[in-house]
Amino acid sequence: MQVPFLDLKAQTRSLWSELQEAIAAVLGDAAYILGPHVAKFESAFAEYVGVKHCVGLNNGTSALQMALLACGIGPGDEVITTPHTWISTSWAVSYVGATPVYVDIDRAGYNLDPALVEAAVTKRTKAILPVHLYGRVADMDPLLKLADRHELALIEDAAQAHAARYRGKAAGGIGRIGCFSFYPGKNLGAIGEAGAVVTNDDALAEKVRILRDHAQDGRHHHVTIGFNTRMEGLQGAALSVKLKYLDDWTAARRRHAARYRELLGDVAAVQLPASPADAAEHAWHLYVVLLKDADRRQVQARLAERGVATAVHYPTLVPFQPAYAHLGYKPGDFPVAESVAGRCLSLPMFPELTEEQIQFTAAALRDAVAG
Ligand SMILES: *Cc1c(COP(=O)(O)O)cnc(C)c1O
Repeated sequence: MQVPFLDLKAQTRSLWSELQEAIAAVLGDAAYILGPHVAKFESAFAEYVGVKHCVGLNNGTSALQMALLACGIGPGDEVITTPHTWISTSWAVSYVGATPVYVDIDRAGYNLDPALVEAAVTKRTKAILPVHLYGRVADMDPLLKLADRHELALIEDAAQAHAARYRGKAAGGIGRIGCFSFYPGKNLGAIGEAGAVVTNDDALAEKVRILRDHAQDGRHHHVTIGFNTRMEGLQGAALSVKLKYLDDWTAARRRHAARYRELLGDVAAVQLPASPADAAEHAWHLYVVLLKDADRRQVQARLAERGVATAVHYPTLVPFQPAYAHLGYKPGDFPVAESVAGRCLSLPMFPELTEEQIQFTAAALRDAVAG
């Protein structure tokens, strides 16, 4: 049996005629950049997250960059963030000329540990940038309190957390501004590159709207150094089609996660991901287990031999990448994140996964760790 890590073709097949119609509408209107198809998605997604504004952008990395700029973060400022994430979170901090300051993650959710954030706050700190990694929202209540007390912007990297919730609130809509990616492999994916910010703050939304379109506040009037980070019409149209299915897809991911737990709960060599207090709030972008002793490469090779594709998110912490060597972090600085990075293994997780594929994957993993 073949178990792919992700099957984007399956999703596209199931929506083929709807997507064709959506694409034809964009072509018919010649509404290629921003325009009515993007505006329609922006209102639908703002409503979905439960916030006033959504501003459509060209990708998630830009969303983070525009959010930081709109919050006034720049050279000399420090942004406290997680070492264990996709590198874009840190790129955005660097793009605006600020410095990422890393603190370790918590053992329960692999997200920014609020207890460590406070100690990292300095006079230069301007923002806290948690990532809702793997689809589980970071522990936001203590972060909100800290941000409040120290007058910091709380910016959410929700690129892996569409449809995730925290104490009832949708990811992205909890802090001052939330950033999404609609990279095709995300839980809500475009048919190309796309991203967005969401916020309840009118002024922030307006700033991002201006920044994304060459910083024009009117035609041929550029108020600051601007960008071209606009969302394409095709992406807005495709995302509007797919947003209607996001809740069903997320429910399927939750069922798959529950099945993995039933099938693998007794395998001592594998530590399964913990659910948040309300298990229904996890969006399961990825299903990541920790190997206790087994050699990861060997386990991956054994699974691949049986036809099961796996991945590692992420093998190297961001502060240990050559790009960030100049910051001077050393092994031992992030005991939890280093341990997770060394042992994590992502199993196949996508809505169309079948019961047979889950059983097959679980059995193959059980054998692979047994040696
Ligand atoms: C995917 C992702 C991004 C970046 O999104 P792009 O659309 O690929 O630029 C940012 N942060 C995290 C955590 C991501 O997973």
